[in-house]
Amino acid sequence: NLKMGIVGLPNAGKSTFFNILTKSSVPAENFPFCTINPNESRVPVPDARFDFLVQHYEPLNKQPAFLNVTDIAGLVKGASEGQGLGNAFLSHIKACDGIFHMVRIFDEADIIHVEGTVDPIRDIEIIHDELRLKDLELAKKVADDLEKKVVRGNDKSLKADYETLTKVLSILKDEKGNVRMNDWNEKEIEVLNKHLFNTSKPMIYLLNMSEKDYIHKKNKWLGKVKQWIDEHDVGATVIPFSANYEYRLVELPDAEREKVIKEEGAPSALEKIILAGYRALQLCYFFTSGKDEVKAWTIQVGTKAPQAAGRIHTDFEKGFIMAEVMKYEDFKEHGNENTVKAEGKYRQQGKNYTVEDGDIIYFKTNT
Ligand code: GDP
Repeated sequence: NLKMGIVGLPNAGKSTFFNILTKSSVPAENFPFCTINPNESRVPVPDARFDFLVQHYEPLNKQPAFLNVTDIAGLVKGASEGQGLGNAFLSHIKACDGIFHMVRIFDEADIIHVEGTVDPIRDIEIIHDELRLKDLELAKKVADDLEKKVVRGNDKSLKADYETLTKVLSILKDEKGNVRMNDWNEKEIEVLNKHLFNTSKPMIYLLNMSEKDYIHKKNKWLGKVKQWIDEHDVGATVIPFSANYEYRLVELPDAEREKVIKEEGAPSALEKIILAGYRALQLCYFFTSGKDEVKAWTIQVGTKAPQAAGRIHTDFEKGFIMAEVMKYEDFKEHGNENTVKAEGKYRQQGKNYTVEDGDIIYFKTNT
């Protein structure tokens, strides 16, 4: 189960954001077969396709895709050297596959800032530095070990590992370095995948502004922060929002929420944030649908049909015969399965088929 972790300095708005997610998530008692920690949330991924399928089939059971999010409190300057919750905190990040980086760009004199003043660029640099220093510590350890084996022990099988780690070390020694921003070939990626460096994880920047600034689309830090990210974390997703505003919205019943959004003239950014998190993890999903159940099944982008079948039941992977695939667009256009079939658009796919996001699939198996 891949998950996103929320990271940021104290008072950036992490708990507020986490509470918003929890309020829009499915209560833990609905997942009797898995343990969910109090600092974890499973948030439904908003999807008009899922809603359409549910409306069409009126199934007895329905289950959308979920994004797993963990709140990781406690990162402060010096955490990599054991300050604050220090190492415990950094090991929680290690268990995450992507990072929501909460950045405070709201000025609010009442709410103290651990560093004394509001300065988002300094804050972002503190977080990057802590993640980088922790990675550097790990890289040194691994590289030392490899050196013993490869250089002194003459073990050629680990040569690629050693070379990759040497490269990682030199990148991380640079104050601005991170593993994510460099070009790696396939062999190197295989090595990197063994070590899960913090700075190799995709990062989504959530710029938390005051309600007023968000509604008026004006904030004195926004331009500078975006520019910094463009220069230092090329290609990263940046989402300005207001945790306080989202909190106000999430507490309202649906109809009232729409009214407030209209009155304020400012949309909620929550769906965008959830979708960005899901994409950052390289996840997608296919549907199974019918009168009994409409369900979204999460898979890694690029998963082949038999492995996708295996998500439903392990026996389905072994006993895979074929996948009958309907494209959502075709289903929507024709309105029912039979017409899609008659049009020849209900395709039979074999074991080399790569499942695409939104496919509606019926698996034939010999089980
Ligand atoms: P955390 O320490 O990162 O978990 O931060 P919290 O979520 O506990 O927020 C710290 C304080 O900042 C709380 O008093 C929040 O109400 C306040 N806060 C959070 N988001 C916003 C925001 O969008 N605007 C303003 N003005 N205050 C906020």
